[in-house]
Amino acid sequence: MAGEAQFGGQSVLILPEGAQRLLGRDAQRTNIAVACAIGNIVRTTLGPRGMDKMLVSEMGDIVITNDGATILEEMNVEHPAAKIMVEIAKTQDKEVGDGTTTAVMLGGELLKRAGELLDQDIHPSTIIRGYKRAAGYCEKILRNISYKVTLEDTETLEKIASISMGSKTVGFGNVKDKLGKLVVSAVKQVAERKDGKVVVDDDFIKVEKKEGGDIDDTQLINGVLIDKEVVHPGMPKKVENAKIALVDSALEIEKTETDAKIEITSPEQMEAFLKQEEKMLREMVEKIAASGANVVFCQKGIDDVAQHFLAKKGLVAVRRVKKSDMEKLAKATGAKVATSLDDLTAKDLGYAGLVEERKIAGEQMVFVEKCKDPKSVTIFVRASTEQVVNEGERAIVDGIGAVSSAVEEGEYVAGGGSIEMQLATELRKYATETGGREQLAIQAFADTLEIVPRTLSESAGMDVIDTLAELRTRHKRADGRDAGVDVYNSKIADMKKLGVIEPTKVKTQAIASASEAAAMLLRIDDMISAKARMPAGGPGGPGGMPGGMGGGDYE
Ligand code: ADP
Ligand code: MG
Repeated sequence: MAGEAQFGGQSVLILPEGAQRLLGRDAQRTNIAVACAIGNIVRTTLGPRGMDKMLVSEMGDIVITNDGATILEEMNVEHPAAKIMVEIAKTQDKEVGDGTTTAVMLGGELLKRAGELLDQDIHPSTIIRGYKRAAGYCEKILRNISYKVTLEDTETLEKIASISMGSKTVGFGNVKDKLGKLVVSAVKQVAERKDGKVVVDDDFIKVEKKEGGDIDDTQLINGVLIDKEVVHPGMPKKVENAKIALVDSALEIEKTETDAKIEITSPEQMEAFLKQEEKMLREMVEKIAASGANVVFCQKGIDDVAQHFLAKKGLVAVRRVKKSDMEKLAKATGAKVATSLDDLTAKDLGYAGLVEERKIAGEQMVFVEKCKDPKSVTIFVRASTEQVVNEGERAIVDGIGAVSSAVEEGEYVAGGGSIEMQLATELRKYATETGGREQLAIQAFADTLEIVPRTLSESAGMDVIDTLAELRTRHKRADGRDAGVDVYNSKIADMKKLGVIEPTKVKTQAIASASEAAAMLLRIDDMISAKARMPAGGPGGPGGMPGGMGGGDYE
């Protein structure tokens, strides 16, 4: 019995009541079924002709997306194995920002193939070892066959950007090219060379969004867009050649924090007290004005009286600016954040060609733009509905991730399933050289990679068997390494010539996290859950699949 131990012929309960336990093959079967189900869910969204998913939250919010990470996040999966699959997507998102669907799909397929090997009595540790070797070999091949790209190669980078954004609905037509150009300009603007290496900190490419307008109105701002309003109506709406002060302390009189009481007994005293307050606030404003600033961004609050004085002096002020925005403003304008007004000098001020408050979709926003060589920029996404704006934002984030990884690593490969096909071909050769039982796992790894061209050809309505057979033949030839699926014309084509290219890192990361997750789940032969979490009746995942490894309609 689950949760019992034998002691002198007596059985002793070692697990609390209600705890569930799955052992050995049952545990593996369940995990494999769950992983396959998760892989299947995202699979149909792959590529520019993949479909979208509509997800409705408990609150009734609607998300329409094609993004693997977003789908899994919104689904709120329960099963522990499903959570590990979601982790794959999260890691991919964090490390690269693109390729989440691919990574999750590969993870599911690796486990499905592992299930078949387990059925042939191959030990999990043999499979794990084979997978590890295969993943390592793929990395080596990828390094060898990648094409090179530099920060200056704008044309290639723009292709990478538009391919990575192309699978999202917003990416159709020439909008995709326009967005691609914006993304590349943004990355080039913030990229810095450190010790001969290109480093892109995507934290400093702010993606701000507002519904209304058209996706075509999406623009790159050479500076920072702050989703706040100017504090006082008497302040100018527009300042050219702005000298910007960034202040981290409140422009308010600290209210007494302890219980100290101030006793006021006469109207004169009251007046003196208020005068004193006013004087202090006036002095604060004087200090800012003395630095030569004409715009001030304050991370804390600004008292009404201080607002009044600032307005009288013709300064523009914005209050309660987020810390992250303060950092972006500092990077963009060259200003130094002053922690105390006494420290504020002309040297600490930043510069922007224009600071302007504009009304966007009924709300005021402050544009800090025309900065000089800003190391922090903003892409402002516009689109007619909330869903499109959100998907547009996700597409742009994918694009930024793809272009950043391409310039940081300096490498890219051809997509459209061609790289996976090439890796599969090389792996099969490697498998025969390896021999032993491990070769079966390496073979399975090769078969797994083919799920990418297979899925793309399915989405393009092509004959899957013929396509894969033809691709296999082409990849055996020396000139066939970039042969992949041209999904728009439903035929096999040279993906590099077609301009379907992706950063190498998308592939290395997807393979690494998928194989690690697969290994992790395969190593489990005992699952104990404290609460009755697992579906009743033991094995079977959220897909409602039986305990077998079949993995539903995967093929
Ligand atoms: P992911 O979340 O894995 O990035 P996508 O839905 O973005 O998933 O699809 C990426 C896959 O689609 C990659 O394998 C890529 O090479 C392929 N792809 C993108 N654009 C094209 C295209 N125009 N023709 C063929 N394949 C494409
Ligand atoms: Mg993508």
